[in-house]
Amino acid sequence: MPFIDSHAHLAGDGFAADRTDVLARLRAAGGEGVVCIGESLAAAAGARALADTAPGFVWWTAGVHPHDAAGYDPTTDGPAVRAAMADGAVAVGECGLDYHYDHAPRPLQRRAFADQLAIARDTGRPVVVHTRDAEEDTRAMVEEAGVAGIRGVLHCYTGSHGLAEAALAAGWSVSFSGIVTFKKWDDLALLRLVPDDRLLVESDSPFLAPVPNRGKRNEPAWCAYTVHRLAEVRGVAPAVLGRQLVANTRSFFRLS
Ligand SMILES: [Zn+2]
Ligand SMILES: [Zn+2]
Repeated sequence: MPFIDSHAHLAGDGFAADRTDVLARLRAAGGEGVVCIGESLAAAAGARALADTAPGFVWWTAGVHPHDAAGYDPTTDGPAVRAAMADGAVAVGECGLDYHYDHAPRPLQRRAFADQLAIARDTGRPVVVHTRDAEEDTRAMVEEAGVAGIRGVLHCYTGSHGLAEAALAAGWSVSFSGIVTFKKWDDLALLRLVPDDRLLVESDSPFLAPVPNRGKRNEPAWCAYTVHRLAEVRGVAPAVLGRQLVANTRSFFRLS
């Protein structure tokens, strides 16, 4: 079954021993590639190095996660993210707002997010957005971004229907992770709310392994379980949905 993992963190130490095997298992599962997320400038460098080993199969992004927003310096980090876009990064991010953990003061989270949205606007790249318990501010910033012509994805989405609808109305996409396979996940209407052409799937590796591998280190190949669950809930054949997800991911990130 074809799919592309639109969001994985493969640059970290957790994959140091078996990155090549992880990519091989992704291919064996039908995966047509993976977008390796640079959630910091250091992670982006690692993601870029991995992408260089597998052109046309691994792509990379660069940004600063909301958890690290307190350390975001628009005068140095901003130019570094811009430079990454010139060097072949396919998206800005992940960036966004996380008021659940509040690892950085909220005004600094908004400042770092706004700066990265401006980079997406200026470079014409899409933006990968993390949002948790920050619905109102995310909605306002996504709506403003949509008006400015910025395209984005709400990744690992588990929020309200209202925020999803606002993002879709702004022209954005929504990505679901292995969370939707968990027994306690019951918002099936959310999984049906996203139109066919705005739907992405992701592993968010190494986190959030889908059932039946819940609790283990996650890896991109296991997106297949999430695709099966989405297909079941949406009432389509997994292979048909998978083909659509490949097309959506290629189009969203303009993958080559
Ligand atoms: Zn995230
Ligand atoms: Zn992530």
